Amino acid sequence: MTKQVPVWPAGHRAALVVSIDVDGEYGVMAEHGEDDWYWRGQAKYDLEAGLWRLLELLDDYDIKATFCWVGLAAKERPDALRAVVERGHEIATHGWDHRVYSRMSRSEQREDLIRTRETIAELAGVTPVGHKSPFWRPTAETVALLQEPGFQWNMDLALGDLPVAMRPDPTRHPVIQLPPSRWWDDYPFFIEQSLPPRLVAEFWREDLEIVRAEGKLMCLTLHPWISGRPGPSRALAQFLDTVIALGDVWIARADHVALWWRERERDLEEASGTATES
Ligand SMILES: [Zn+2]
Repeated sequence: MTKQVPVWPAGHRAALVVSIDVDGEYGVMAEHGEDDWYWRGQAKYDLEAGLWRLLELLDDYDIKATFCWVGLAAKERPDALRAVVERGHEIATHGWDHRVYSRMSRSEQREDLIRTRETIAELAGVTPVGHKSPFWRPTAETVALLQEPGFQWNMDLALGDLPVAMRPDPTRHPVIQLPPSRWWDDYPFFIEQSLPPRLVAEFWREDLEIVRAEGKLMCLTLHPWISGRPGPSRALAQFLDTVIALGDVWIARADHVALWWRERERDLEEASGTATES
């Protein structure tokens, strides 16, 4: 008899990852230039206030999230990095200074990944296993570079609505690709436009309805200097109210989703092996 392999654990119908990119002011510096003090001033809110409001909110909901840190932001505020770890959240890497990987050589990119990972490991006491490229702009080589030191997941490519195991180097462990979405990112809603938080929560709720009906995965991408502001933080809170009330959506850290997916792939291989033998 073929073994049944569920899509999600413990009878959950869908999964949600809350990923939060801690850019500090390095994201806007990479985008607008070091001398653009308008954006740098706005982004200062990231480590000073936004991060702390989001941590409180996540604690209130008892939800564990994944924080993708820029290396320089971690170096600037190791106390904030440690506060995130102490509350049980995952720490992943998000580039050393938020420069675009697609403009780096292969060796520069490798150096950036390792430097960020090692610095965060030293400061946080835990080694990151996940990576999100700055501006979601990796190169064709990024996943293979992630395989080398043993990264387990990446959130750069929207290959569908479920995780995808990628193995460009077949001799190494796969990297689980978790799909990001521009429409699950706070940036277009609150920076490119200024929408009322309740409308943003509504947008995400409607998406989740479909994701849940199809048994898929939703990955939010938030920034403390945006979603950590008073009104925008309510978009997240209102959205989480709905998700929790549904009672069957697995809200998990990215590393836990990646681990589940790796085990599931193994179970599927075994199940198909059994099916072939019988
Ligand atoms: Zn970023």
